[in-house]
Amino acid sequence: MHGAGLANGSLFERAVAIRDAAWGRTATYSRKVFIPLTNLCRDECGYCVFARPPEEDGAGYLTPDEVLAIARRGEAAGCKEALFSLGERPEKRFPQARKALRRLGYETTIEYLVDMCRLVRDETGLLPHANPGRMTREELTMLRPVTASMGMMLESVSDRLHARGGAHFRCPDKVPAVRLETLRAAGRLNIPFTTGILIGIGETREERVASLEAIVEIQNEYGHIQEVIIQNFLPKPGTPMAHGRAPSLADMLETIALARVILPEDVGLQAPPNLTPGRYGRFLDAGINDWGGVSPITRDHINPEAAWPKIEELAEETRRHGMELKERLTLYPKFTAEPERWLAPEIREKCLSLAYEMPGYGLGSESGMRHGEKRSGRC
Ligand code: SF4
Repeated sequence: MHGAGLANGSLFERAVAIRDAAWGRTATYSRKVFIPLTNLCRDECGYCVFARPPEEDGAGYLTPDEVLAIARRGEAAGCKEALFSLGERPEKRFPQARKALRRLGYETTIEYLVDMCRLVRDETGLLPHANPGRMTREELTMLRPVTASMGMMLESVSDRLHARGGAHFRCPDKVPAVRLETLRAAGRLNIPFTTGILIGIGETREERVASLEAIVEIQNEYGHIQEVIIQNFLPKPGTPMAHGRAPSLADMLETIALARVILPEDVGLQAPPNLTPGRYGRFLDAGINDWGGVSPITRDHINPEAAWPKIEELAEETRRHGMELKERLTLYPKFTAEPERWLAPEIREKCLSLAYEMPGYGLGSESGMRHGEKRSGRC
């Protein structure tokens, strides 16, 4: 572990120095629309309010028309990304999910997701980003031509969380070895990938560091991880962890700074602004360079109680901490700089034409994101 032995003052200074050297005084965000393709899920994470039992009102799959309607609203609001968020493999557990999929003409949720990403890719100006949880090599291969990037939170490498009473009890898709294998498989397929850790779900500080180090090991082998999210757990009424304690701001800041010191400098570091209202600007002082996806029209379906800040407010808060807010695409500039390697031919043109319009990608008239410029040699 590189940074845990440092006093916090010097830890933050070092984290900020690394961020400033690699990313400058710019914090980015992606203007996106969230498409909750299904809220059915076979896992039972102790903190989740997204997944619904199949018999509950409102549980099920969006239809293709509903997917397209959400995407078009996003497009009209200036979004560039369609983030598909969904539960994991509900058809393996619920007959209702199998029946609903069959009615739609599919055997598995991932097969349906592939076609819905294709629909959005072909019918709108948005870039699909798929976030369906753990994926096999075959599933990643099917998704690659219809997405610009993909993501899956590692959450934690702690096996302890799977014991009875733990946050990941009865969650076969959250087994660390399975998640790590998804990250590796995405690397072998050259897929620009987002991952991250969830803090405050029962893991120790050492386990947080171990999770970050596991990401570093995979990144060193494949180079496909574009950003790592540090996300704080928030207790939610009605969940088994409703009475759990959210991590403190100090805890969050220290984990961010540790992550910045531990991760390779060209991996972006992100923390969500909506889960720490009124105080999220402090994350910039700990070393983040990205706010993640912010939607002007859809709520955070995973944390429905936590409203997104308005983009003007995010810009103001970023300025208050001496930095400038800039929009980015779902994939970072270093990937559009090497399109043959990172982008399937079926989505390449669309990614490049959006990147051409986006300042900071080193393709159009303006530039600004240091990593995109450095790697592309197009400055
Ligand atoms: S957090 Fe994700 S994997 Fe866990 S129960 Fe909710 S939808 Fe399923």
